[in-house]
Amino acid sequence: MRAVVTGGAGFIGSHLSDRLIGLGHEVVCVDNYITGNPAHIEALLERGQGRFSLHKHNISEHVTIEGPVDAIFHMASPASPVDYLQYPIQTLKVGSLGTHNALGLALAKKARFLLASTSEVYGDPKVHPQKEDYWGNVNPIGPRGVYDEAKRFAEAITMAYHRAHGVSVHIVRIFNTYGPRMRIADGRAVPAFLAQALRGEPLTVFGDGSQTRSFCYVSDLVEGLIRLMESDFHEPVNLGNPHEMTILELAQRIKELTGSKSPIVHKPLPVDDPLVRKPDITRARTLLGWEPKVPFDEGIRLTAEDFRRRIFGEVPVR
Ligand code: UDP
Repeated sequence: MRAVVTGGAGFIGSHLSDRLIGLGHEVVCVDNYITGNPAHIEALLERGQGRFSLHKHNISEHVTIEGPVDAIFHMASPASPVDYLQYPIQTLKVGSLGTHNALGLALAKKARFLLASTSEVYGDPKVHPQKEDYWGNVNPIGPRGVYDEAKRFAEAITMAYHRAHGVSVHIVRIFNTYGPRMRIADGRAVPAFLAQALRGEPLTVFGDGSQTRSFCYVSDLVEGLIRLMESDFHEPVNLGNPHEMTILELAQRIKELTGSKSPIVHKPLPVDDPLVRKPDITRARTLLGWEPKVPFDEGIRLTAEDFRRRIFGEVPVR
């Protein structure tokens, strides 16, 4: 299979590219490095033995890829709340124009298409846990609206290309995912708390920390992406780990697992921060036989090892 991965130098995109190369496929990575990092794919350029190539390009502009393409994984987007604040227009453009361009490529190449959508389409949910038939509770003009509405538009245009043009589309709603290669200054809870705990700095819990999230390790997520792309199901599928915890519990657990003596401090809760989030993964279980395998403590241990190496340059003890 020859796959295009937009956002292939990003956190999830680079892990997905790794897995595709490991399975013997060819990968064309399209990334403009707005939040992606060329360091993530340097090893792949070598390991791919000619099967991995890089097309430095902004997918929000028209894209041309030479040769056949069998599958397009459209992963490109800023994805951390601090990034939406810094890149609001780019976030809107990649979800709308970028998805349009990626779908146009899928139509031209008769390729299967997968949209990386998000649990953010549910907004601050009034239904808990979230099932795919819930339409959500989104503030279109709030700071997160640029991401939430772009992804909602992306889902709509993806279904339109399926209905109008018969493109074989797949839509994944990705819940909170973590793992090695997340940017240390990414701003999301897991990398923020890990970096703070390892450096002995205070862990910054926003609000009273009673809001909940459910964290999935990246290798589990990637397995689900590949299974979904192989399926013949065209409506959205939640992928995430249903193991729900409060953000205060997350901070405490990360402190324990890293042996950190850092204090926990509280900062103001960001605007429109969802109070709860937990996927109902019945659809993924039934359709794909998929469920997360990596326990939270193990995932944090693996992520902490990567963070230690990047922050302190330590060689991990195996
Ligand atoms: N959060 C926090 N401290 C931080 C970063 C995030 O308390 O330094 C909280 C944030 O307010 C939210 C949760 O952790 O309630 C998850 O935030 P994240 O940015 O990881 O992603 P989100 O799930 O909000 O998209």
